[in-house]
Amino acid sequence: MAKINKIKIIPIKIPLNEPFIISKGPLTEATITVVQIYCDEGLYGIGECCPYRTIHGETQEGTVAAAQNIARLILGLDVTRIRRIVQIMDQSLAGNASIKGAFDMALYDLNAKLVGLPLYQYLNGDPDKRIETDMTVSLMDSDKMVEKAIQYKEEGFPVLKIKLGQRPSVKDVDRMKAIRQATGSDYPLRIDANQGWNLTQATSALKEMEHLSIEHCEAPIYSQNLIHLKTLRDRSPIPIMGDESVFTHKDAFQVTALECIDLINIKLGKSGGICHAMKIASIAEAQDMDCQVGSFSESRLGITALVHFSMAWDHIKYFDMDSPLMHTEDPVIGGMQYHSDWSITVEDEPGIGADYDPDFLKRFDSITLTG
Ligand SMILES: [Mg+2]
Repeated sequence: MAKINKIKIIPIKIPLNEPFIISKGPLTEATITVVQIYCDEGLYGIGECCPYRTIHGETQEGTVAAAQNIARLILGLDVTRIRRIVQIMDQSLAGNASIKGAFDMALYDLNAKLVGLPLYQYLNGDPDKRIETDMTVSLMDSDKMVEKAIQYKEEGFPVLKIKLGQRPSVKDVDRMKAIRQATGSDYPLRIDANQGWNLTQATSALKEMEHLSIEHCEAPIYSQNLIHLKTLRDRSPIPIMGDESVFTHKDAFQVTALECIDLINIKLGKSGGICHAMKIASIAEAQDMDCQVGSFSESRLGITALVHFSMAWDHIKYFDMDSPLMHTEDPVIGGMQYHSDWSITVEDEPGIGADYDPDFLKRFDSITLTG
């Protein structure tokens, strides 16, 4: 037994190179809450989350407040009891997926360190799995999006994810026709409307884009309207991926049982961490459904945890792991590396194998709870 004896909460900010724009609005900096969980074995685990107020309804201030509540509940507990601690978090606080995800990530990091295994091995992952990231094009005027798409193709990204979701959706169709023409007929493209369309707009847009060879469409309409989502899926020539519709494993059960989607986008910041993300992956695997993994605006630390998680599941086939590339600064030591072909690998260090540069963290106020 290893007892949790200290928890440190550090809210940090990393400016973005340029605004990241989705249908819900722009983001100019990554507001990340870092959690360190220490145990009496002298080790600590680290996790992080990046709450998106327009998607989670969580703010950085809120995550810091919730983190202190959670910390008081779990100090003194056996760190190896991950499922029990996750249960305590869920019972004491509904929602708040992102901050719960940061705690869960730190717990998995610490437990893998305690047994001396890289996290992917702790999760029975495949060390040879090939992972390569897409790159995201923000929602802007068509000309600017075409320019970015060409730039990213020239930089060697194997696939692009295009942000859409503006009404009328005919504008989005024009954007995609222009991007397809500029990037050539074979270049893989996927799209994400971030719930921006309604059923009528989405139906016509997806039908009009039928011949543009689009891999899949994330979050075409309001995430909770499962009736319309099912109708849309039945009508759409392009596979529908649930993103905002699938936060938890319970959502995953519901939307797949109702046959609303073809694919799931799993994010540790939506599921509440790895413990529940494993359940989402299982639900998808049981019905032979492929998954994507993605993030909010996490650093290489959170993305490294996501890489380890992805290595544990063969049917996770799409990787949206570009968020650190949008940051002005990379304060993370160790962890996943991008290669020139945008493939991604991790080293065989215990745990996540990544940490923040202590000098970077010193720039920010932290809160420490002990017990
Ligand atoms: Mg999405």
